[in-house]
Amino acid sequence: MDYKNYIEIVQNYPKEGIVFKDITPLMNDGDAYKAAINDIVKYAMDKEVDIVVGPEARGFIIGCPVSYALGIGFAPVRKEGKLPREVIKVDYGLEYGKDILTIHKDAIKPGQRVLITDDLLATGGTIEATIKLVEELGGIVAGCAFIIELSYLKGMDKLKDYDVFTLMSY
Ligand code: IMP
Repeated sequence: MDYKNYIEIVQNYPKEGIVFKDITPLMNDGDAYKAAINDIVKYAMDKEVDIVVGPEARGFIIGCPVSYALGIGFAPVRKEGKLPREVIKVDYGLEYGKDILTIHKDAIKPGQRVLITDDLLATGGTIEATIKLVEELGGIVAGCAFIIELSYLKGMDKLKDYDVFTLMSY
């Protein structure tokens, strides 16, 4: 399937100069969404993954159906103040701004193998922060899966030590 047919390119969103890749048409099409999730599930199958972790909000759109298909749990990574119990946190920079990400302290048990999912890899700041949270809790990053990689933003450089899967690259 040519997944690029399901991505809309939006100029100057959310800020002047940003060329935004909108994955909502892909999710809107049942066949395309299912095929994309199935491709990630296939990638994860031989990695002996114990749990899927994804940053809000689009990391949930990818990670939750993957965890459901694998029959394993999902742990959300969220912006500061959104998780109700004890968290660990990390500062991070992203393509357009700065923020803090958190995860529940008991979300991952030491030694668990983790698949990290998000819709898109841009500068890699979000995924790097998510990896830091997982590793601080003693998790082992078994793989990272994205729908899209923006290769010109060089996020892959931050993931040299990890196994990465992407469905398409711009
Ligand atoms: P990074 O931290 O710079 O790699 O940015 C990746 C994060 O920002 C992901 O969580 C994406 O959801 C979001 N993001 C950045 N650029 C885009 C885009 O063009 N389309 C959709 N999401 C984007």
